[in-house]
Amino acid sequence: MIDFADKTAIVTGAASGIGAAVARELAALGARVVVSDLDQSACERVAAEITGAAGTAWGHAADVADPQANADLVAFAEAQTGALHLAVNNAGIGGAQAPVGEYPLEAWRKVMAVNLDGVFYGMRAQIPAMERAGGGAIVNMGSILGSVGFANSSAYVASKHALIGLTRTAAMEYGTRGIRINTVGPAFIQTPLLTDNLDQAMLDGLAGLHPVGRIGTPEEVSALTCFLLSDRASFITGSYHLVDGAYTAQ
Ligand code: NAP
Repeated sequence: MIDFADKTAIVTGAASGIGAAVARELAALGARVVVSDLDQSACERVAAEITGAAGTAWGHAADVADPQANADLVAFAEAQTGALHLAVNNAGIGGAQAPVGEYPLEAWRKVMAVNLDGVFYGMRAQIPAMERAGGGAIVNMGSILGSVGFANSSAYVASKHALIGLTRTAAMEYGTRGIRINTVGPAFIQTPLLTDNLDQAMLDGLAGLHPVGRIGTPEEVSALTCFLLSDRASFITGSYHLVDGAYTAQ
């Protein structure tokens, strides 16, 4: 049984999709959760859902691409609860769709700023707080596209490959200091990241790329994430865990 009682967690990108599912499950398992995303009212909406279900949560807006916003987010979590133990660096964007030779420069920089710099800035602020708390665990939200390519998504694919190296290195640095750090790699998941950008025919096409014959749910990603954050995963650090309906088994 996973029990996050007396643990404080930050989840970024938590107003939607996978992040919201993780925030809800962490709270259901006893954690105090800081729900963070770009828009304050969206953060507060998810936090209110959690408190309405007898959980403990606060909303706090932060742009992960801003180092100071990450520091302020950690300070907020410590001010509310006294310590930070868990973090899920989940905020991410898909970016433009174009081949490398035509990829818009601004779109490249934006994807890297959110998907890669944002995770670095997050961990850079979270790790010292977890050391102050006596230890902790971090999950960085990667993708199957951290291990395979996907045409017309070079920035996204490159950011998710780099995130795995960043995670491995941080895990090595903090392995003896009580902080475990892992990457979760989902395949295609039913969230606004997909549903806002693709029509039903495209979603059906994506489903067919998975040997299980469907795309995944945010809750299926959350289940793995919460396990990795828990003490049940005490010897698991520095690794990359797929939740992908056999997408990469082919
Ligand atoms: P989502 O539903 O779009 O949720 C992502 C959330 O992050 C949104 O609320 C978004 O806000 C927010 N966000 C965007 N930029 C941000 C920033 N700079 N700072 C803070 N928050 C920001 O997407 P999702 O599918 O749940 O994706 C969550 C993570 O899973 C991402 O890292 C994504 O790469 C990864 N992932 C998703 C899939 C998939 O198929 N869905 C597959 C593999 C991996 P706005 O809506 O206001 O932009």
